Amino acid sequence: MKIADDCIVSIHYTLTNAQGKTLDSSDGGDPLRYMHGRGGLIPGLERELDGREVGDAFDAVIQPEDGYGQPHPDLVQAVPIEALSQIEELRVGMQLQSQDEEGRVQVVVVEEIADGMVTLNANHALAGEVLHFAVSIEDIRAATEEELAHGHAH
Ligand code: ZN
Repeated sequence: MKIADDCIVSIHYTLTNAQGKTLDSSDGGDPLRYMHGRGGLIPGLERELDGREVGDAFDAVIQPEDGYGQPHPDLVQAVPIEALSQIEELRVGMQLQSQDEEGRVQVVVVEEIADGMVTLNANHALAGEVLHFAVSIEDIRAATEEELAHGHAH
């Protein structure tokens, strides 16, 4: 069986950045399981996986355009520190969840606290990064009716 849309695929992977630092890995744990072709993984990685078989292993370098995109300056904003007064021990590097006007939840990172203002960055932590993946394909199976209806792996 080759990887195609709507297959349930299990992979082991290690993600490193351009400097060779490991950012994420399934090593030592369960493989990552996802439904192919439903946007569960970044587009560049799904493209690399397409048509592969169990036992295949490969390295892939994914540019930001096919990964988490480029950081957008308009996703960085400064708010008065009083607006965050309900947060205990506010500090740089802290991740906060915020909601926009439509109620969508987004994660923002506290980048700077200065002069009574807090700079919040809503860009994905890996935006702008060239991603290096080492991947091995552990399992491929057909999706169940329920998985197809839900659009994700169970
Ligand atoms: Zn489900």
